[in-house]
Amino acid sequence: MTNWTPQSWLVGGGRTRTPGDPLNVSPELASNFYLPDERLYSRTHGTTTTDALEELVGGLEKGSALAFASGMAAAAAVFGRLPVGARIAAPTDPYHGVAGILAEGESQGRWHVDRLDQADTAAWLDALAVSDLVWVESPENPLMTVADLPAICGAPRPEGALVVVDSTFATPLLQLPLDYGADVVMHSATKFIGGHSDLLAGVLITRDDDLYAEFVDRRLIYGATIGAMEAFLTVRGARTLGLRLERAQDNAMELALRLDAHGGVTRVLYPGLPAHPTHEVAKRFMAGFGAMLSFETTGDGDHAADVCARVELINHATSLGGVESTMERRAAIAGQERIPPTLIRLSVGCENVDDLWSDLVGSL
Ligand SMILES: *Cc1c(COP(=O)(O)O)cnc(C)c1O
Repeated sequence: MTNWTPQSWLVGGGRTRTPGDPLNVSPELASNFYLPDERLYSRTHGTTTTDALEELVGGLEKGSALAFASGMAAAAAVFGRLPVGARIAAPTDPYHGVAGILAEGESQGRWHVDRLDQADTAAWLDALAVSDLVWVESPENPLMTVADLPAICGAPRPEGALVVVDSTFATPLLQLPLDYGADVVMHSATKFIGGHSDLLAGVLITRDDDLYAEFVDRRLIYGATIGAMEAFLTVRGARTLGLRLERAQDNAMELALRLDAHGGVTRVLYPGLPAHPTHEVAKRFMAGFGAMLSFETTGDGDHAADVCARVELINHATSLGGVESTMERRAAIAGQERIPPTLIRLSVGCENVDDLWSDLVGSL
C-alpha cells in the first residue's frame, strides 16, 4: 500500500490506472487463457478480477492475499495442509463451520484439538509451545470475546508452529494480526468486506511466500477458487467498507447502551461496553469495537424466538456484516446448543439507529 490511509486504499486500491483501462475491474468470465502466458487456467491462477480483490485486501492487511470461494474454503486450505497427528489449539466456540472441521478431523484421528477459553491468554501462550496450529477467532462468535492478539501472536513459538487469526468480525480496519506477529489472517469476505449479503467469498493473507505457495496449491487442488462475479461484487462492496463500518459501529455502540438499560434484556455482550469481560483487552489494541453484539432476553428461549420473529426493519436471518441488520437466536443453530437459549446475536447495519431501536423495543 502507498502512504494512503486504509479508508483511501479501500476506495483507490486494486485499480490498474492504465490509460484506456476502465476505472473498475470487470468480472472476467474465463476458465482458460491463450498460451504462452503465466496465467493458464483460472482455477490455478485466478483472473484479473481476483487479482484486484487480492490486491485490495492484501494492501489492508499488509500481506499477500489469496481469494477463495468462501470463508470455509479459505479455512479448509489452512487445515488441509496439516500433517496427520497434528495438534491444534482452538477456541471453545469457534465459528460452527470451523468447529465442524475440527470435530471431523478429530473423530477420524487426523489431529488432536485443545479447546481453550478465548480470554485465558496464559493458556494460549502455553499452547504455542506444543501446537502445530493455533487458530484464534477474535472477536469470537457469539459472546464477542476478544483474544489478546498482540500477546498471543507476538509470543515466541517453535519453528513451524502456525498462528492463524479468523479476523472476520473485526475486518482489516479494526485490527492487523500480521503486524502483531500472526502468520496468517483469514476473513469470510461474505460478511463485512463484501457487505451486502449477496455473495460468498473468503481470503487468506500472509507475509510468508512458502505458505502463500502452499495455499495456492490447496486452492487449486480443492477447486476452491472464487468465481468472477463474486470477486467483482466483493471488490465493489469493499469500496464502502470504511463508511459502512463507521456507521454500523456507531449504531452498535448506541444500541448496546440502550439494550443494557432495557428491562427486557438481562445481559448485553458488546466489547465496547466497560462491563464486557474483554473490554480492556479490546481497548488496548483494536481501532474500534465492531458492529456485532449479542444480548439475552428475560423469559425463556421461546420468548427470545418470538422477539426474533417480530422484528420488521431488522432481518430475522443468520450471517452478518451486511448493510442490513440481521439477528437470530444462536441456540437455534445446529451445533450451538451450548449457547444460552435466550441469546440473540445482532449484526448491526447502516439503518437509522432510532428506527433500529424502535424495532427492537417493539419486538421485546
Ligand atoms: C461466516 C464465517 C466463516 C465462514 O465463512 P463463509 O464465507 O460462510 O464460508 C468463518 N468464520 C467466521 C467468524 C464467520 O463469521
